[in-house]
Amino acid sequence: MNEMNVILLGAPGAGKGTQAAVLCKEFSVPHISTGDMFRQAVQAQTPLGLSAKSFMERGELVPDEVTVGIVAERLAADDTARGFLLDGFPRTLPQAGALDDVLGQLRKGLTAVLNIEVPEEELIRRLTGRQVCKVCGATYHRLFHPSSQGEACGLCGGALYQRVDDSEATVRSRLLVYSRQTTPLIEHYRQRGLLKNIDGLLPIDVVTERLRELLRVRHDRTEIRP
Ligand code: ADP
Ligand code: AMP
Repeated sequence: MNEMNVILLGAPGAGKGTQAAVLCKEFSVPHISTGDMFRQAVQAQTPLGLSAKSFMERGELVPDEVTVGIVAERLAADDTARGFLLDGFPRTLPQAGALDDVLGQLRKGLTAVLNIEVPEEELIRRLTGRQVCKVCGATYHRLFHPSSQGEACGLCGGALYQRVDDSEATVRSRLLVYSRQTTPLIEHYRQRGLLKNIDGLLPIDVVTERLRELLRVRHDRTEIRP
């Protein structure tokens, strides 16, 4: 079977992490989320975490050279042999270029770029109501996707918390950063024939089904760039 080398594109709050959790399990590929990698590094107070922390708290992007470095290392791991799902990377055109270089060195190509589309006002509602499990990282929403155990995780019982960058002020900065620095990627991947748009306003399980169908069709056709 061919590799499933996929980018999940979409604004903060579009539902990338929620969908990746289901699809990665189903297709047995690793979920590579740069946001999660940075948060773990911040938590562990590693040099990477210390350099990323202030950018994240302000809702700004961590510099490209730092971000590209951690992704290059992660993609070289053995568990990407059958594919991977990138969530939150690339976020700038230089990151997209660096990803091509890294994949070229690994003799891999992208299979698809799945873009989850959600309007800004809905993104604000989603991010400001988001809750994350401290233990297993599962994502909930106070209104749209509440945990079956209230303030505890429905999967593992861990405490739920709100991300520091999910305050309304920081959310607005993040959405501005997204619109300025990340939206050019949509046209970039459209021109390469890799882009598929998905209506992210649909219920979570319907979005999963749409993504699943696109992945089944497209992961037979991997783009090999010269
Ligand atoms: P991202 O990883 O793209 O930043 P998340 O997957 O964390 O986004 O989702 C953001 C918030 O929106 C979470 O609280 C999640 O429960 C909620 N959410 C995700 N998808 C949907 C959906 N289709 N409808 C309603 N709420 C959703
Ligand atoms: P996320 O979990 O994807 O919402 O990312 C949280 C934060 O991590 C972002 O606001 C950035 O500060 C940082 N981050 C995550 N991915 C990237 C990336 N590809 N490039 C730069 N910064 C990133």
